Amino acid sequence: MAGSTTGIQNVVIVGSGPAGWTAAIYCARANLNPLVVEGAITEENRMKGTLPLGQLNLTTEIENFPGFPAGKLREYLSTALPEDRQPFWILDKGNQPAHGLTGPELMELMRQQAINFGARILTDDVTKVNFTGKPFHLETLENGPIQAHTVIIATGARANWLGLPSEERFKNNGVSACAVCDGALPRFRNKALVVVGGGDSAVEEASYLTKFAAKVYLVHRRDKLRASKIMEKRALENPKIEMCWNSAVDEVLGTDADGVTGVRLMSTTGAPPRELAVSGMFLGIGHTPNTDFLKGVLELDDKGYIVWKKMMRTNTSVDGVFAAGDVADNNYRQAITAAGSGCMAALDAERWLAAEGIH
Ligand code: NAP
Repeated sequence: MAGSTTGIQNVVIVGSGPAGWTAAIYCARANLNPLVVEGAITEENRMKGTLPLGQLNLTTEIENFPGFPAGKLREYLSTALPEDRQPFWILDKGNQPAHGLTGPELMELMRQQAINFGARILTDDVTKVNFTGKPFHLETLENGPIQAHTVIIATGARANWLGLPSEERFKNNGVSACAVCDGALPRFRNKALVVVGGGDSAVEEASYLTKFAAKVYLVHRRDKLRASKIMEKRALENPKIEMCWNSAVDEVLGTDADGVTGVRLMSTTGAPPRELAVSGMFLGIGHTPNTDFLKGVLELDDKGYIVWKKMMRTNTSVDGVFAAGDVADNNYRQAITAAGSGCMAALDAERWLAAEGIH
């Protein structure tokens, strides 16, 4: 769907996770005619994990987003979403199990809700911004410049990598930062795999991969997980998951023909190194905010997150530019907090436009 980019937009929302869509719903219902730049569908974005619909589109069930207890959701989803945006399992004829809403489903529902209230969507990336004068200027990859009275940045964050040359060599050949995207590939089925990390992402990835893999080693650099208690319990009780405590991957092993065949583990407590024979390595070691295009433009903290300049307000260092979701949150990083701050940013933008006499 292409939103017109001519004229000065009241509000441009950059990003399409829960923060972006919630901001879009609120702005559309306030008659601000918002334009959402949802991200471009490119190979580069796929590799980086910055495709439209953000990180939730790369997850499985969302058990903690209020309002969606597990159930048979087929009928609701098939009536709420147009056929070309429905998850594949709605369209197939198989029996749908009762389950919680998945991340991609939640994102499609939010996107559709924004469309229902009149939000316009541009499937493109903002590559550069100029916030020094009014109106603001945004450059896009494919649709030329956009002018806007207010901007809401909701570009989220992307998965981190270890940074090893051998990891880079085997990306797409056994190394992945997205179990949900790649875990079911034939190369990983009934094989031993490694997941790196000790937070919710790593534990969730490890649990998910046990559906396909023969065994999953969870490699963590300390002797205690950071993940939430319920997820930790599930992982520790899963007979297919073996914990490798106080360990770090320092080399991914393999050949160009076979891809990953193992990893070398270094001990963080001085034990001798060892090798694990595995066919894949998945990363779950945290995230980096998607603020590359904002460096030198907005105030960022030392990790690159946008700084909110007023307590409990979404104002950034530039008057008229607001930020919501993980791009400005190094602390909570939940779907529900992102959605909440998307609502706050929309209300802040609406009040700012009213105070400026623009709307
Ligand atoms: P995180 O909580 O920051 O955890 C990152 C993990 O990776 C930590 O255990 C960290 O080790 C490890 N790590 C970081 N850099 C590393 C490196 N270079 N080498 C090896 N290990 C490294 O990140 P996350 O798991 O992505 O979670 C982010 C947020 O999303 C959290 O708030 C989480 O609750 C949320 N989340 C929630 C769910 C859910 O509720 N279902 C699912 C996924 C994520 P240390 O522990 O030693 O620092």
